[in-house]
Amino acid sequence: MPDVVQKQLPLRPAGPDTVAALLEWYDREHRELPWRAKPGRRSDPYKVWLSEIMLQQTTVKAVIPYFLRFIERWPTVEALAAAPRDDVLAAWAGLGYYARARKLHECAQVVASERGGKFPKRSADLIELPGIGPYTAAAIASIAFKEPVTPVDGNVERVTARLFAVRTPLPKAKAELRRLAATLTPEKRPGDFAQALMDLGATVCTPKSPSCLVCPVQPDCAASAKGIEASLPAKTAKAERPVRFGHAFLALREDGHVLLRRRPETGLLGGMLEIPSTPWAEGSSHLVGPQRVAPVRGDWWRVPGDVVHTFTHFRLEIAVHRAIVPVDAELTFWAEPDRCQWVHRRDLDRVALPSVMRKVIQHALKEG
Ligand code: SF4
Repeated sequence: MPDVVQKQLPLRPAGPDTVAALLEWYDREHRELPWRAKPGRRSDPYKVWLSEIMLQQTTVKAVIPYFLRFIERWPTVEALAAAPRDDVLAAWAGLGYYARARKLHECAQVVASERGGKFPKRSADLIELPGIGPYTAAAIASIAFKEPVTPVDGNVERVTARLFAVRTPLPKAKAELRRLAATLTPEKRPGDFAQALMDLGATVCTPKSPSCLVCPVQPDCAASAKGIEASLPAKTAKAERPVRFGHAFLALREDGHVLLRRRPETGLLGGMLEIPSTPWAEGSSHLVGPQRVAPVRGDWWRVPGDVVHTFTHFRLEIAVHRAIVPVDAELTFWAEPDRCQWVHRRDLDRVALPSVMRKVIQHALKEG
């Protein structure tokens, strides 16, 4: 019997061969996405910008219907710039992070009015625009204008940490991972390379169970060779999210109108509409005599069960109160009447309400 020879795959450090293998794979396996051009083709900067802003902190699946609606309604950056801000916020509702929608609109206005509707081509100039950070600037510059830069987000950090077996935990490893990703960035097809890394991170080199057996860069992957891929990138333990409490007051007029209030322009959910609520604070949820701070005098009833919503930095628990009030109901000092408006309940779908407030309304109205 001949000896069985165990052949070890040669491990070469990630470099130009890795890039070539990844681009070949991308040509075959790339995801078809509505904002993408075919491999090697020039992408529309407006579509790239819009999709990248939408994709921040949100999944591709969630973004696609929003992207298609935006493009149908506002096919150019000039059209988006000319839209009323409330329409843009309302169309964005559900994607979360409303500050991004406000910046998106502001950016469209700057590009339309100060740059003749053309996005700058270099990442160093793109980053000067509202709402565009280093990642988005690099993504637009590489994908739409072929600048040799690589956008590094969580996906690319993960792939890079594994390719080079970086054991330093995040966030400390960020600078090192950016530097290593930059060493791979090719002069030719940098946009396809960036998108190939995105696709690899989304479909093959996934967070929990990377599919190394079908991975096009497996021969160059240091983590896979060492069998430590599932433990990378290492992460510093996160502190638990604090909990904040609040009380929301849904006043339903006898003619079917609901009282809404516009939130201050700056801060969380800035400029969006809300059901008038107490400030959200840590501590106790107990409120003595909620009627005292209700926006309208009335027979307030606390709806059983609270609404829970998770923001990036805290968890919110809201107690919901409801009252049916007459058509000539007067607003109290607590309502801040200058910022209030009555909207018929059948029109609530069309106004810029954040998801948390849609949950509050649904909860308040579920029993009648
Ligand atoms: Fe990720 Fe495995 Fe590919 Fe390495 S070989 S890049 S760990 S999927």
